[in-house]
Amino acid sequence: MATDIITHRDALRHTATRSAVSVGLTVVLTLSFCLLQFGSDPDAFVRAGFVTTSSIMISMTISGLLTAALSYRSALMMRELTLTRAELQRISGTDQLTGLLNRRGFDQAAEATLATARHANLPTTVLMCDIDRFKAINDQFGHEFGDKVLIAIAEVLRSFAERRQMLVARHGGEEFAILMTGVSKERAAQYAEELRQSCAAESVVGDDASVSVTISIGLAACLGEADLAKVMRMADQALYAAKHRGRNRVVRADVLADSIAA
Ligand code: GH3
Ligand code: MG
Ligand code: MG
Repeated sequence: MATDIITHRDALRHTATRSAVSVGLTVVLTLSFCLLQFGSDPDAFVRAGFVTTSSIMISMTISGLLTAALSYRSALMMRELTLTRAELQRISGTDQLTGLLNRRGFDQAAEATLATARHANLPTTVLMCDIDRFKAINDQFGHEFGDKVLIAIAEVLRSFAERRQMLVARHGGEEFAILMTGVSKERAAQYAEELRQSCAAESVVGDDASVSVTISIGLAACLGEADLAKVMRMADQALYAAKHRGRNRVVRADVLADSIAA
């Protein structure tokens, strides 16, 4: 909805115009009413009280109508503002390239999901997924093709996660995060493995190239008093180990901790 009120002066002018319209309408309608009631003889006797009452009734009706119109207009503007704010919030939490949540959107949504899981004492699992040797793809086929790869992998992750009511986000450059609740560690590890295989099976076709990409996944889980930052850090460490062990694999943070302790 367009509005031309932009400065204080505009607001004053706007108010003055409407007040003038209101006063003008009251005068015109009262005079018309009097002419109709008492005829056009200026020397005829009339009851002053009747004129005053009519004038008051007319001005109250007009001011009531104007107030209703202004309230309706304000309500429309408030609605517009609320929708705009919601849209801005959505845009600021969305990654423009892939349409997934970005880090900010993920952190917000994940905190809410985690709070619910904590309350219900459900396990929470984070998968940190990173495309393998992505820089080489960019270097060899160009940045635009790299973007195409990001979109394709994002699509695989999205369809995988949304079917299972998981949160999915592009957490950084070529790194994606998935958060699931109420899933056992073993089941989550199976999911991660399925996801890794789905990505490996995906070919990205360009003008003169068709490339298969793989991802490495770090998995971390927690139960009860979970701190999102801590689980993300553990998943990151597991991802780092997955890269170190040769990429295109899933590493569980708990198994990693056991192997370090042994
Ligand atoms: P690794 O297997 O260890 O993860 O190696 P990598 O090459 O995938 O990782 P590295 O961190 O060396 O490189 C990541 C690259 O991702 C570098 C950066 O230019 C690229 N990148 C980040 N964001 C974008 C993007 O939006 N589009 C494209 N095309 N490339 C991006
Ligand atoms: Mg990478
Ligand atoms: Mg990376």
